[in-house]
Amino acid sequence: MIEAGLAERLASVRGGIADAARSAGRDTGGITTIVVTKFHPVSLIQELAALGVQDVGENRHQEARVKAAELAALPLTWHFVGQVQSKKARQVRAYADVIHSVDRSALVRALASAPSPAAPIGCFVQVNLTDDAGRGGVAPTALTPLVMEVLATPGLRLLGLMAVAPQDVEPRRAFAWVRELGEGVQQLAPQAGALSMGMSADYAEAIAEGATHLRIGTAITGKRPAKQ
Ligand SMILES: *Cc1c(COP(=O)(O)O)cnc(C)c1O
Repeated sequence: MIEAGLAERLASVRGGIADAARSAGRDTGGITTIVVTKFHPVSLIQELAALGVQDVGENRHQEARVKAAELAALPLTWHFVGQVQSKKARQVRAYADVIHSVDRSALVRALASAPSPAAPIGCFVQVNLTDDAGRGGVAPTALTPLVMEVLATPGLRLLGLMAVAPQDVEPRRAFAWVRELGEGVQQLAPQAGALSMGMSADYAEAIAEGATHLRIGTAITGKRPAKQ
């Protein structure tokens, strides 16, 4: 049984994405919507899959691991969008198809040390747009060497950049900055032009600045249950 409202919210966000893409002169085919399902039960992900969702995102390793194992039979792509402890990197790699939060050298090395599966893991380098070093992400000034390290690491496939718009900045300006940083990355790696940016409140602005991967939670899932 699909929860009342879920299909409507999903349709409404899909409509919003289509509108934003049209305004930006973009094709929605170039935009992947990842539904962030953190704190929600496995049943919600099953409902989303029944509604045609193919990409889901989680940000806590313990929770993601259990969900991915339980839903292994569904044709889902698992995106890990939270901070990763280096000592957990190998475990995250075991179920995640894409990691959006590669933000330091130690994590690159830890991911590379995992027994190499058939397919390389897709990686976004996360950029921290705030002055708070405690946030996930590499400082923009330290971005290039980290990008080069990912490019030089077998088993990791660089897709592009990920960022969260800081609270005190207009989202469109923040995303324009990410787009510029992404252009720099493409000088080094023309194939790594993806941009993971845009959440429930700011996905339209992200699309206007070229987002290729939206990470949308509450606008689709409804309010998150309290953190356990
Ligand atoms: C939770 C989360 C999201 C989704 O946030 P909403 O505001 O619910 O859309 C996106 N990105 C990351 C990294 C998250 O942790």
